[in-house]
Amino acid sequence: MNYRILLFYKYVNFSDPEGFQKNHLKFCVDNQIKGRIWISSEGINATVSGTIENIEKYKSEIRSFPEFKDIWFKEDAHYEHAFKKIHVRVKREIVTADFGKVDLTKTAKRLKPEELNEFYSSGKDFVIIDTRNDYESNIGKFKNAVTPKLKTFRDWPKVVEELEDLKNKTVITYCTGGIRCEKASALLVEKGFKDVYQMDGGIWNYITKHPDKYWEGSVFVFDERRIVSPNTKEEIKHIGKCYYCGTPASYYINCHNQICDKILLTCDECKIKNDYCCSEECRQAPDRRSRIHG
Ligand SMILES: [Zn+2]
Ligand SMILES: [Zn+2]
Repeated sequence: MNYRILLFYKYVNFSDPEGFQKNHLKFCVDNQIKGRIWISSEGINATVSGTIENIEKYKSEIRSFPEFKDIWFKEDAHYEHAFKKIHVRVKREIVTADFGKVDLTKTAKRLKPEELNEFYSSGKDFVIIDTRNDYESNIGKFKNAVTPKLKTFRDWPKVVEELEDLKNKTVITYCTGGIRCEKASALLVEKGFKDVYQMDGGIWNYITKHPDKYWEGSVFVFDERRIVSPNTKEEIKHIGKCYYCGTPASYYINCHNQICDKILLTCDECKIKNDYCCSEECRQAPDRRSRIHG
């Protein structure tokens, strides 16, 4: 485990994304950092990997910017790079939302993992809402969470309209690392929701500290690992169901008929039995992906 994967973001007014982009790309290439970094006038959003030594240098580099000096890094050990390439890009938004004007200085209160545990164990009246996409919440969620199953994050404003009845309730939003629920919660505040929280540091921060508690199933991640399963208790290890046989599963494949390419949740056994295809028709298709690529 000589490599580290870093995940971090921050919403902050950043004045020179273009200047940052050029210098930062060079820094990453010089120090063999791989992954993807989005920079925008609204902040930074990144997942990168590198050797322990290079990642330390990378963290110092990021913290040398006054805007990012207090940034929080989520750090995981790994045995190799989690990315093949490096991308540093200037974006309009650090996570595509298209919500229109949302005041990001008025985001929701931050809820610590321990406070969430307290909410659950004390029987407090609250609603916890997943702000992620359907393929993410299908394999993992907080206990009793509302999962609106978004197709993309752009659908969130529609969900907010449907949540109208919860305006006077305690509402908690969450996502993988916190970046989406920060914006999602800001929209709730803007629409007049009275008592809104966002999970501080997202699911990541919670499961690292409290596996086998109120998180159920696996977490979809945006690097080559794809899925992380934090729990050891059998009953909450996997909450997704195999597309073929319905047994608990957390792993996705794309149908190997390249024209179909449907995303399927499947157990290991069925994946092999069905030859990586969603149907008999796809199994017979001429344009099949080669098995070597997974
Ligand atoms: Zn199965
Ligand atoms: Zn198919």
